[in-house]
Amino acid sequence: MSGAAADTAAVVLGGVLLGLLGLAVGSFLNVVIYRVPEGRSIVRPPSACPGCGTPISARDNIPVVSWILLRGRCRTCGERISARYPLVELLTAIVWLALAWWAVAADHLPLLPWLLVLGSACVALTFIDLEHHRLPDAIVLKLYPIGVVGLIVAGLLSGEWPLAAAGIGVAVWLVVIGGVWFISGGRGMGFGDVKIAPILGATLGWVGVPAAVVGLFSAFALGAITGIVLMIARRAGRKSAIPFGPFLVLGAGIGLVLGDAIWTGYLAMIGLS
Ligand SMILES: [Zn+2]
Repeated sequence: MSGAAADTAAVVLGGVLLGLLGLAVGSFLNVVIYRVPEGRSIVRPPSACPGCGTPISARDNIPVVSWILLRGRCRTCGERISARYPLVELLTAIVWLALAWWAVAADHLPLLPWLLVLGSACVALTFIDLEHHRLPDAIVLKLYPIGVVGLIVAGLLSGEWPLAAAGIGVAVWLVVIGGVWFISGGRGMGFGDVKIAPILGATLGWVGVPAAVVGLFSAFALGAITGIVLMIARRAGRKSAIPFGPFLVLGAGIGLVLGDAIWTGYLAMIGLS
């Protein structure tokens, strides 16, 4: 094989492996999304059909494939299995591939292990927040020690310690999200949003202050646009609360991938560069 062909083969193989791992992690996240809000163990008992209680066999537990083969129904009782299951699996695989692609393209490979953990947690938190309107401590608080270790690993591998930028990221996210929470008396934002803000702010700040600022701004812009669209479409009153967690996650994703480009474009637009 020539060098270029070998490189291409390595990229394809790496992508396939990451995608498969993402699917498997997504399958685990389905258990997290279903059980953590109920305060149940994510380890035991093994997954069973909520309709008939029959344990899910290995052949019916293959991400995405089993759901399609079973046409979204339990093999034993025929109870519908939500499309959320294959959706979460696919989405997790896409998030994993996107983060890996970004880490390579932006030369931030040392940050990838932590980003994969955080990205996976964010998938689970998004679906839990949409359904239950909260971000459980059982997930959010665990991200603090894991995040510290993840950033230390990134620092050791890269030899770079952007602690000041990470600190600015934490401060900006915490002051703005915490401020909205405090001023709105917890109506505009839940305390779960305040608790996850430093984690997202530190990670984005580690990449750069533009990522942290653009991410935060994107979260509010997406939230505002969605709120207005929903209000027009459903005439949703101000009382019908929309969980803010998914916007924080989406905004953080935009800040990570597009932060520098948007920041540079903005500075050029207002004539500062
Ligand atoms: Zn069943």
